Amino acid sequence: MTENFEETKLEISDGHKVLFDFHVRYLDGKLFWQTVKDFDTNCRTLPTSWLFEMEIQKVPLDGNVSIPIILKRSDTQNKPVNAYVTIRLYDVNGFRFFDDLISFGRQYVKPGEEIKENIVGTLRLLEKRKLFNEEIRVTVVITIRSCHSRIVTNTLSPVRKRKLCSMM
Ligand SMILES: [Zn+2]
Repeated sequence: MTENFEETKLEISDGHKVLFDFHVRYLDGKLFWQTVKDFDTNCRTLPTSWLFEMEIQKVPLDGNVSIPIILKRSDTQNKPVNAYVTIRLYDVNGFRFFDDLISFGRQYVKPGEEIKENIVGTLRLLEKRKLFNEEIRVTVVITIRSCHSRIVTNTLSPVRKRKLCSMM
């Protein structure tokens, strides 16, 4: 049940940000919930494609939550890029389930490679566990870096130097 996918893409000076969010509902009534999302950066220099996978399970009575996540690079451009993932999990009232920022990633991700992470946390309060099993709002920000960079104007380039000299 993949609902309410909203995707935004932003270009930054040396890469791209892809933001999306979705809801997970009624975990109480099922064993687990899996989301799979693919996206492209649409980079003009080095376009890369990715597959994001996340699995959420109903929180048990002991309150221990475990969320495996995989980000896989699925294009064939033979150049590494840096990839980072930031995730936030909110309850239906807009409060975060975990205080710590969930963030991971690494440099030099080549085509076909994947980044795996398992988010673990504990929901001690019964009320929070109830909310978790009812509805979770997930926001994901994926940052792909070092595929392109803005041209840095060197102020001491030969052309500029010549101009400066001729003015003196
Ligand atoms: Zn780019």
